Amino acid sequence: MRVLLTGGAGYIGSHTALELLGRGHQVVVLDDFSNSSPEATRRVGELAGQEVPLVRADLTDPEATRAALEGIDFDAVVHFAGLKAVGESVAQPTRYYRTNIDSTLVLLDLMRERGVTKLVFSSSATVYGDPRYVPQDEAHPVGQALTNPYGWSKAMIEQIITDTATAWPELEAVLLRYFNPVGAHPSGRIGEDPSGIPNNLMPFIAQVAVGKRAELSVFGDHYDTPDGTGVRDYIHVMDLAAGHVAALEHAAPGVTAYNLGSGTGSSVFDVIRAFEAASGVAVPYAVVAPRPGDVANVVANPEKANRELNWATTLTLEDACRDSWAWQSQNPNGYAAN
Ligand code: NAD
Ligand code: UDP
Repeated sequence: MRVLLTGGAGYIGSHTALELLGRGHQVVVLDDFSNSSPEATRRVGELAGQEVPLVRADLTDPEATRAALEGIDFDAVVHFAGLKAVGESVAQPTRYYRTNIDSTLVLLDLMRERGVTKLVFSSSATVYGDPRYVPQDEAHPVGQALTNPYGWSKAMIEQIITDTATAWPELEAVLLRYFNPVGAHPSGRIGEDPSGIPNNLMPFIAQVAVGKRAELSVFGDHYDTPDGTGVRDYIHVMDLAAGHVAALEHAAPGVTAYNLGSGTGSSVFDVIRAFEAASGVAVPYAVVAPRPGDVANVVANPEKANRELNWATTLTLEDACRDSWAWQSQNPNGYAAN
């Protein structure tokens, strides 16, 4: 397959590009580099031993996107492009809705114009909101009482894709609800390069371990969990990347949602300990107040993806910590010149 990766220079897109190339597919990356660097795609090419075509365009701009993709053929799309910082989405709702929703509308129109029917969308476990039961399967209610515009935008896009499939029955769409992506390619050449202060746990810990930040704030230790800290389902980004390849290869007419997670929960203290063991570096921390909007326990039931996509995680939290440390220690300033 020749696969267009919108937002393909980002964290998950760059690992998925490498995985697709490794399985013999071709890729084209489209990105506006608002939260990434062309260097990520260059390194994907270096690891894959082939140059990766790169198109710069703002996907919310239909004319610019059409012009940028003129003469470039593809028969499937993975739609990563969008804004993803939960806290920022609360402060800048219109920017978040405009970017995430407009980019999807432009893409769906373009796909229909070109007769490209295969679509994999980067959704999120956040569409389930505060879990009614754990582990969550795909039948868990979606889009109810969500706490931030980022989560709402993902739930709305799932609905937009579903409505588009009603009007266009040839559309083969897969909604991938990611749990907590972590880790990096084992080479340490590509990884997560957050701009500013990391919002997520693992990149924050990595920056503490490498000496860029003094200590980790642990957001609460009185949750109803075994050690009182928040429990999440961490999934190695290479397992996540493989999930996209499986989704593309199994796509069928209509819309199907899959959880991509391991089915195992780890607490904040579990992650700190695993990172310390992998890096050999102490991670100082202080317990502070819970972060508003956080929930105690989010764990995937990944059985549907295991069964229907013939996909399951193969890597552990320890693998993710080792690979995240390889990336962070070799690239303390991310893709910027070190
Ligand atoms: P990322 O920010 O690294 O990648 C997103 C990419 O989209 C970036 O390269 C950015 O420059 C690009 N982009 C943004 N707006 C664009 C526009 N208008 N036109 C073209 N390109 C644009 O994020 P990521 O972690 O790789 O996430 C990829 C997708 O997965 C996102 O949709 C995100 O919401 C979703 N997701 C991520 C997580 C996570 O924890 N990382 C969890 C669940 C879902
Ligand atoms: N967390 C923390 N300190 C941080 C960042 C996160 O204690 O600096 C906790 C957070 O409260 C949650 C877990 O780590 O229990 C994972 O948070 P993250 O932001 O990575 O993912 P999400 O909240 O989206 O699941």
